[in-house]
Amino acid sequence: MRIVLLGAPGSGKGTQAALLTRQLGLPHISTGVLLRAAVSAGTDLGKKAKAVMDRGDLVSDDIMLGLIEERLGQSDVQGGFVLDGYPRNIAQAEALDALLKRLGQPVEEALQIDVDEEQVIARISGRAAAEGRVDDNEAVVRNRMKVYAEQTAPVIAFYARKGVLTRILGEGSIEEVFQRINSVLRSRA
Ligand code: ADP
Repeated sequence: MRIVLLGAPGSGKGTQAALLTRQLGLPHISTGVLLRAAVSAGTDLGKKAKAVMDRGDLVSDDIMLGLIEERLGQSDVQGGFVLDGYPRNIAQAEALDALLKRLGQPVEEALQIDVDEEQVIARISGRAAAEGRVDDNEAVVRNRMKVYAEQTAPVIAFYARKGVLTRILGEGSIEEVFQRINSVLRSRA
């Protein structure tokens, strides 16, 4: 199954993606993880991306498309994937759509994890303390929320138009949210 997870920073999409990939035996493709790996490895791409990420802005569409094309070209994605953090704007959604069309592997499910903004800010402050991510301080989080509202939220409508979008209520425990996702996927089988 080819799944895209959508949701604001702190919505829990990374956590749900990890649970889902373990259960389905699919690769978890997280652009945040790929970018942070490039930053720690000190590659050219990592050097270009770091300052942008630290501000909470979006890394350029060109860089992201190169990264995602390379990842989707690897053999482990043949049986499907869970994409987490991409697409993050309409240009990326269109580029992904064209790429997957070329591969004959369109997105089958877009799951939008929907949480209230106040909850998200509270969660992210907790994560900042636990993981020490530079982009989790309050000013940067506010910018990431703004970028989400302006650029990423329209991607929800993009997948709704394609008839593959389902909204998942992101409130409650991790297990509760995961159960909601599972019941949606079960109803498709
Ligand atoms: P979160 O889900 O908490 O927003 P991520 O780990 O997915 O965090 O992403 C962290 C940062 O990496 C983003 O704020 C952004 O700078 C960069 N990034 C990740 N995915 C993309 C993307 N598809 N396009 C542009 N930038 C991205």
